[in-house]
Amino acid sequence: LAQLFRPLDMLGMVYREIKQGLIDMESMFGLIDTPAEIADVPGAPPLQVVGGHVRFSHVEFGYESRRQILHDVSFEVPPGKKLAIVGHSGAGKSTLSRILYRFYDIQGGAVTIDGQDIAKVTQDSLRRSIGIVPQDTVLFNESIGYNIAYGRPGASQDEIETAAKGAAIHDFIVSLPDGYATQVGERGLKLSGGEKQRVAIARTILKDPAILILDEATSALDSATEADIQSALGTVSQSRTTLVIAHRLSTVTDADEILVMASGRIVERGRHEALLDARGLYAEMWALQQAEAAVDEAMAAE
Ligand code: ATP
Repeated sequence: LAQLFRPLDMLGMVYREIKQGLIDMESMFGLIDTPAEIADVPGAPPLQVVGGHVRFSHVEFGYESRRQILHDVSFEVPPGKKLAIVGHSGAGKSTLSRILYRFYDIQGGAVTIDGQDIAKVTQDSLRRSIGIVPQDTVLFNESIGYNIAYGRPGASQDEIETAAKGAAIHDFIVSLPDGYATQVGERGLKLSGGEKQRVAIARTILKDPAILILDEATSALDSATEADIQSALGTVSQSRTTLVIAHRLSTVTDADEILVMASGRIVERGRHEALLDARGLYAEMWALQQAEAAVDEAMAAE
C-alpha cells in the first residue's frame, strides 16, 4: 500500500511547490483575485532579448469587460533607459507592470520587447527576462541565504554574497549570529520593510534580467535606509531597461522620461524640469510633496 501512496505523496509535494510559487507571484503583485488563465500560443518561441526595448502601443485594458482601466496607453523605453510612472492612487501604474509581466492579456494594442509581441512568446522566457522589486517582498520560512538565492536557484554561496553586497545587506547578514543560515519569516527573524526590500534587490541582482520593474514602497522608510536603498537600486538599474512605479517624485527626477497617469490615461509626459515648467498635474504633485517634506522636517526638528 505504501508503494501505491508514494507517487501520490510526490504529486502532493509538486502541487504544493507550484501553489507556493503562484502565491508568491500573486502577493508580489498585490493580487487578491486569481488572474485569468494565460496560455502560451501553441509552438510559441522563446523571447529573444537583444537590448530590452519595451514598447506599449495603444494599449487598451480592463480587468473586467464592464470596466476599462487603461485607455490608449503608448510609450517606449529604449534599452538601458529609465521610465518613471507617477500618478495618484488607482491611476493604473501597477496595472502597466502586471501587463508587461503578462499576468493579463490586453484587449487592444500591443506590448513588445525588442519587437516581439509578449503575447506570442513563451511566458517562461518573458518572465525570466524581467526582474521585479515589489513594494512588499514575500519571504519564505527559510534561511536568509535561501531567500536571496530564490532569484536564481542553484546560485553559489559566492554569488549570493556578491548579490547581497550589491544590495547593501551583506554587512547586516554577517552581523547576525547565524549569518546567511539565519532563519527568517514567521518562525524566524522578522525583517524590516527596508531589509526585505534589500533582499528583493539581491534576488534581482542574482536573476540578472535585462528589464527591471521597481515598485517603490508607499510606506516611508527612515532617510538613511531610503538613501541606502536608492543607491542599491541605482546600481541594479544601471544598464538595464527600468520602469519605476514611483510614489515619491524626488526619486525620479533623473528619469529619462516620466509618465503622469490619471484614470488610466497618460495625461503628461516628459523630463522632470519640463514637467515642472508645464505647471500641470506633475507640478501640482511636486509642490504638494515638497510642502509635506517641509512639514516633516519641521516636525522632526522640534
Ligand atoms: P496605487 O498607487 O494605489 O498602487 P495604481 O496607480 O498602481 O495605484 P492600479 O493598481 O494599477 O493603480 O489600479 C488601477 C485600477 O484598476 C484601480 O481602479 C483598481 O481598482 C483597479 N484594479 C486593480 N487591480 C484589479 C483587479 N485585480 N481586479 C479588478 N480591478 C482592479
